[in-house]
Amino acid sequence: MVPDLLGTYGDRGNALVLAQRLRWRGYAAEIVTVLSSDTTLPESCEIYLLGGGEDVAQQAAVDFLARGDGLHRAVASGAVVLGVCGGLQVLGTAFTTGDGRTRSGLGLVDITTEPGERRAIGELSTRGELAGVGTLSGFENHLGRSRLGEHTRPLGTVLHGTGNGTGGTEGAVSGRVVCTYLHGPALARNPELADVLLSWAVGERLSPLPEFPELTELRERRLRVRS
Ligand code: GLN
Repeated sequence: MVPDLLGTYGDRGNALVLAQRLRWRGYAAEIVTVLSSDTTLPESCEIYLLGGGEDVAQQAAVDFLARGDGLHRAVASGAVVLGVCGGLQVLGTAFTTGDGRTRSGLGLVDITTEPGERRAIGELSTRGELAGVGTLSGFENHLGRSRLGEHTRPLGTVLHGTGNGTGGTEGAVSGRVVCTYLHGPALARNPELADVLLSWAVGERLSPLPEFPELTELRERRLRVRS
C-alpha cells in the first residue's frame, strides 16, 4: 500500500516474496498496488503491506489510510497486515516525529512512538517470539522509539541492534497485524516469517519448499560477520 509515500526502503520486495512463495506452491497470487492518489482502498485483499518512509510521508499515509476505514474493516474480517518501520508507526496508536509533532496513527496496534536521541542505523537481529519463527534479521534505520501497550506482544526480543528501543523488544503482534523495524526486505531475509503470514492468509499449513543449505549457511556467515 502507498509505495508512493512509504517506498523509501525497498519494502515492496515483501510483496514479491509473498507472491512468489505462493506461486511455488501452486496458489494464484496477485499483487495490488494502492497509491495515495487512489479514491478507495480495496477491502478484499488477504494481506496488506506497509513499508517505511519519511516522517512527512507517514503523516500523509495516515490521512489516506484512515479515510473510509477500509483497512480497519479488512482487518476486522481477518486480513493479515505487515507494517515495517514507518509502517509500524502508522499502524500504532500515536507517533511523534522528529519535529516534535504528535499525531494519531491508525490504532490497529497498541504501540506509541517518540523520537530517540539519535537514529538507530545498522543490522538488527532478534529471537522471534511468534510460533514458527526463529532468529529474525534485517537492517534498521529510524529515529523513532516505540513502546508497546500492556497487552501487545513483541515480534521479537533484540539480540543485536535497537529494535523498538524499549524493553529489549522488537516490533509488535496484535491478532494478524504484525509490525517490525526490519528492512531487508524483511520477508526475503526471513522466509519463515513470510510463511507464517501466508499460512494465516490461506487458512492452512503450507507445504515445505525445497531448502538451499548453501544459502542458509551464507546468510548465517554474513550475519556472524556483521554482529
Ligand atoms: N520516519 C521514521 C523514523 O525515522 C521511520 C523510518 C523508516 O521507515 N525507516 O523513525
